[in-house]
Amino acid sequence: MKLNVIVLPGDGIGPEVTDQAALVLEAVAHRYGHQIDLQHELVGGACVDAHGVALQAETLQRCRAADAVLLGAVGGPKWGVDAPVRPETGLLILRKELQLYANIRPVRVFSSLIDATPMRPERVEGVNLLFVRELTGGIYFGGPKRRWADEFGRHAVDTMPYSEIEIERILRVGFEAARRRRKKLTSVDKANVLECSLLWREIANELSVEYPDVSLEHQLVDAMAMHLIRRPRDFDVVVTENMFGDILSDESSMLVGSMGILPSASLGKPGTPGLYEPIHGSAPDIAGQGIANPIGTILSVALLLRYSHGLDEEAASVVRAVERVLQDGHRTADLAPPGTQFVRTAEMGRLVVDALD
Ligand code: NAD
Repeated sequence: MKLNVIVLPGDGIGPEVTDQAALVLEAVAHRYGHQIDLQHELVGGACVDAHGVALQAETLQRCRAADAVLLGAVGGPKWGVDAPVRPETGLLILRKELQLYANIRPVRVFSSLIDATPMRPERVEGVNLLFVRELTGGIYFGGPKRRWADEFGRHAVDTMPYSEIEIERILRVGFEAARRRRKKLTSVDKANVLECSLLWREIANELSVEYPDVSLEHQLVDAMAMHLIRRPRDFDVVVTENMFGDILSDESSMLVGSMGILPSASLGKPGTPGLYEPIHGSAPDIAGQGIANPIGTILSVALLLRYSHGLDEEAASVVRAVERVLQDGHRTADLAPPGTQFVRTAEMGRLVVDALD
């Protein structure tokens, strides 16, 4: 197979972690006999500095024509809130133009990292869940969205709209994912208060008839925030709308121990390129020191192989390699207990390449 991948390293630790992930991708492609074409392009603050925009039109075109996009992170204090062009615009344009409506975040607790979690180990041991978050609709994008002032003081309004098409397509991603896993889907809403959630729940119940092998349960978002901490092992696939997913998926990253190890995929219609990135930001506090953890980006490569190329065996080999390296006790600075030795970003990348089957 020929893999055409655009790499957008971005800002801060972005280039450090994507360098290692690209090495792993090349090594996997080589071992399994695939051809690979990796092209590096600018995005975010780096692109603002070079070209005055957060994403060039030519880059967007190349992303559209590629199989997949691997991104590091964008943003940093250099391009603050007053900057004429915000680095984050590059990412928002990509999500919008590639119509990436499904954000997938696997949250898996590696048994070798059980000591790194801030939770009680016996509570999170064996956690393996998949978040499916709607990414292009809801309150972040709906209108009217504005602020105004009158004789009664200041006011603001945001609007949460959802159409049947938007709800159905993301719920289908959830049902399909559950079908390939432990066949349990938890749909999260706020149906006791919100009209959007009532419609969401109605459509989820209608669709469940088409997926008799998947057991569907509904949870209110406030209750779900508690259940994720109290009994995270009980969940398999969790599907929810944009804002609830934003909050709950960040909460669930805490089950694992470090932001540095969680990957994500943002997907659109079948046959269109997906965007793969670690869940963390550009970490300006550690950028340039060579100590960032590249595992979240390396595991994003596993998602890229699985979702954009259907290469499940290759994807599994990346996950196994990461597991082996962690089992052997190698830790980057964010995971190593204070005062103990840690491996640097590039060494972690090399260890994972060496641990590939
Ligand atoms: P952050 O995720 O960059 O960092 C939070 C903390 O986690 C920091 O202490 C950082 O050192 C640590 N950390 C993050 N990734 C790590 C890694 N791979 N290895 C080791 N430690 C890691 O979040 P922030 O500090 O709130 O944001 C910094 C910048 O990143 C901001 O400009 C923000 O807008 C941007 N951001 C970008 C994205 C994205 O590109 N998708 C996402 C979130 C934040």
